[in-house]
Amino acid sequence: MQILHCFAGSIQRYSEELSDPDRYRPDRCPQCEARRPLKAHGFYTRTLVDIAFDGTIRIRRYLCHCCKRTVSLLPEFALPYLRFGIVVIALFLVARILLGLTLKAAAEAAKLAVMPYQRGQFWLRRFRKQAERVCAALAALIAQPGAPDFTTRALQILESIGWIPAHRFLFADLRFHLLGWPAFLAPAGRIAALPPAAPAA
Ligand SMILES: [Zn+2]
Repeated sequence: MQILHCFAGSIQRYSEELSDPDRYRPDRCPQCEARRPLKAHGFYTRTLVDIAFDGTIRIRRYLCHCCKRTVSLLPEFALPYLRFGIVVIALFLVARILLGLTLKAAAEAAKLAVMPYQRGQFWLRRFRKQAERVCAALAALIAQPGAPDFTTRALQILESIGWIPAHRFLFADLRFHLLGWPAFLAPAGRIAALPPAAPAA
């Protein structure tokens, strides 16, 4: 299970701070609610493309003594299961939808040298699908703007609150993914229980 590493700062500082396992150690398990600090359990690496960064970062993992499941601390500038950082995706979506720029110009606004058509469509499609739920979920934090459609309204709200603070609220409190969980983890980022096996024919 991934939870948010509430770290604000550069990717370089994130990497430096990771070496201390106590610094962000969860004091309870988010999966079984056991009230015991989790045990440091190494790292995994993932790729990340962000403004002025394209490489791999380490993600710290902890293990729960009670349920034996792992918890990883995802930095808040990265979205689960997406290679591109939240700021890059935000810049692209705002440029493409709110400002109505072309794919190429929107990619430039997001500092992306290469932007395949498919990737842009993938982000747009996923965001549009989520927009109404984003508006509803963030209604607790801000008055709804009067934009005519949910996609524009969601973007305006995210621009007002800030994408990372909004993501922090949506993900940490509601298990809500800004661009939607992949199907196998929907609706809340956890592997859904498998249905009982059918009797052998
Ligand atoms: Zn546990």
